[in-house]
Amino acid sequence: MRSADDVLLLIDLQYDFMPGGALAVAHGDEVVPVANRLAQAFSHVVLTQDWHPAQHVSFAASHAGRQPFETIALPYGEQVLWPTHCVQGTAGADLHRDLHVPHARAIIRKGHHADVDSYSAFLEADRATPTGLSGYLRETGANGGAHGGVKRVYCCGLATDYCVAWSALDARAAGFEAVLIEDASRAIDLNGSLAAAWEQLRAAGVKRAQSAEVLRGAA
Ligand SMILES: [Zn+2]
Repeated sequence: MRSADDVLLLIDLQYDFMPGGALAVAHGDEVVPVANRLAQAFSHVVLTQDWHPAQHVSFAASHAGRQPFETIALPYGEQVLWPTHCVQGTAGADLHRDLHVPHARAIIRKGHHADVDSYSAFLEADRATPTGLSGYLRETGANGGAHGGVKRVYCCGLATDYCVAWSALDARAAGFEAVLIEDASRAIDLNGSLAAAWEQLRAAGVKRAQSAEVLRGAA
C-alpha cells in the first residue's frame, strides 16, 4: 500500500470519453482495469467527473456556426470547442460501471460554471478559480493540516493531453510532486497536443511513469 502522503487522482473515467461516447477518446476504456489495479495500491483515491450544464461555453453547439474541434477566443483565452458531452445528470456523464473504487474519498466535479471550462482538477480554465482540491489535499494525507497533508499526486485517466496533463501541471504549480501514469491514460492528440503536453509536463517536473512501476513502488 502506498504511503498516506500519496493520492491517486482518477480523471474523467466517464462514458462520454469512452469508445461510442460523445467525445470518445480512442481506447479510453482500456484504462479502466489499469485504474482499478492502481486503486488497490492507494489508500487515498480521488475521482474527477466532467460535469457541464446543458449550454456550456465549451460546446460547439453553444456558438452559432461553429463546429467541434474549432477554437475560439474567450475572455480567459483560447478554447477548443467540443461536441456536447458530460451534461450534468446524463448517462454520458456517469462514471464507467466497471470502475471499482469503493474506497474513493471524494469526487471533484469540474466544468460546472456555464461560462468557464475546466480541464484541470485544481483550477478552472480562467486559471483563477480553484476547485478546492488543493485545499482538500493539504488538509488530508498522513498528517494533514498544519503538518502538510498529501505530498504526491499520481494522475491518470482521460485524456492524457487535456484533463490529465492540466491536472498534473496544476498539481506541480500548487506545490505537490506529480506523476502522470502513461499506460493508465489515453490521449485525444488534436493538432499535436500530446507531444506539446509531454514537453510541458517534462519542463514542469512532472514524472512520467508506467503503472507497473507505480505498483512495485519504483515510481
Ligand atoms: Zn468537458
